[in-house]
Amino acid sequence: MATSSSASLSKVIKQQYMELSQGDKVQAMYIWVDGTGEGLRCKTRTLDFEPKSVEETNLRVRCNKVMKMVEDQVPWFGMEQEYTILGTDGHPFGWPSNGFPGPQGPYYCGVGADKAYGRDIVEAHYRACLYAGVQICGTNAEVMPAQWEFQVGPCEGIDMGDHLWVARFILHHVCEDFGVIASFDPKPIPGNWNGAGCHTNFSTKEMREDGGLKAIEDSIEKLGRRHRYHIRAYDPKGGLDNARRLTGHHETSNINEFSAGVANRGASIRIPRNVGQEKKGYFEDRRPSANCDPYGVTEALIRTCLLGEEGDEPADY
Ligand code: ADP
Ligand code: MN
Ligand code: MN
Ligand code: MN
Repeated sequence: MATSSSASLSKVIKQQYMELSQGDKVQAMYIWVDGTGEGLRCKTRTLDFEPKSVEETNLRVRCNKVMKMVEDQVPWFGMEQEYTILGTDGHPFGWPSNGFPGPQGPYYCGVGADKAYGRDIVEAHYRACLYAGVQICGTNAEVMPAQWEFQVGPCEGIDMGDHLWVARFILHHVCEDFGVIASFDPKPIPGNWNGAGCHTNFSTKEMREDGGLKAIEDSIEKLGRRHRYHIRAYDPKGGLDNARRLTGHHETSNINEFSAGVANRGASIRIPRNVGQEKKGYFEDRRPSANCDPYGVTEALIRTCLLGEEGDEPADY
């Protein structure tokens, strides 16, 4: 693996500077989603006080508008962010430089140096998220070695996009410190290796109450009539990225077909087993790609499931 210059800089020396008193000034780092819809950028300014909130541009404004329309239904989301750790040469972290590790099977939720590649990054990221107030709720090693997942949620309305984007930013920053790269490419290694998604779990107050399964099934029926619109909203290239991932293999559905089922990991929509049993809870949309815009994904779910929109175009409110 190529060495990164950042990895070889001494973090101990940096600590001396981090301890310098800054008086009553604060460094405010402003972060934003760039024009690609998937990249993050940042810049820093000196302020005399700690700012209370930030405005983001991009898809957030539209998403927020739609969220406000359905506030009384108390929509909750939880997103499962999968990602792959790469060396600065673009090769998966810990993989042999010429060739491949052993086939998939032992890596998912694995433990041991031959199974879990890069846990230091995962743990540093988890702690940094909790420190920052990000609603991170779990993490696990994924099916492909060097691939991991963290979950954020449940978050109400616009909070989902806010928290997930900040969690992604923190991950990029932690990886920078370790001299590696976090990739959200939905299919980083072609062939017999799992891709990376961003399963999106969704519920309303009604779905979470007794007998809520009926409302879950109603939503799924609406989603089934609007598959193309959702595929367009679920990756930054309008479906082109997901075309590499949603093959119908490796625990994914086929990009051209809509399907739903209880405990079915090969379906577009999965009703978790315990939700089927208790007849209330939430459902999981397994289609969003790892590099999706969470504002776009949650907005699309609200439009179709709660605002009853149909057809290929979003309504103008
Ligand atoms: P999986 O079994 O698909 O791997 P995970 O445990 O990784 O599921 O993730 C479950 C996600 O569902 C978490 O992000 C969690 O916050 C979210 N979640 C749990 N309950 C609800 C709910 N009632 N509404 C929406 N999201 C929920
Ligand atoms: Mn998961
Ligand atoms: Mn997963
Ligand atoms: Mn899942």
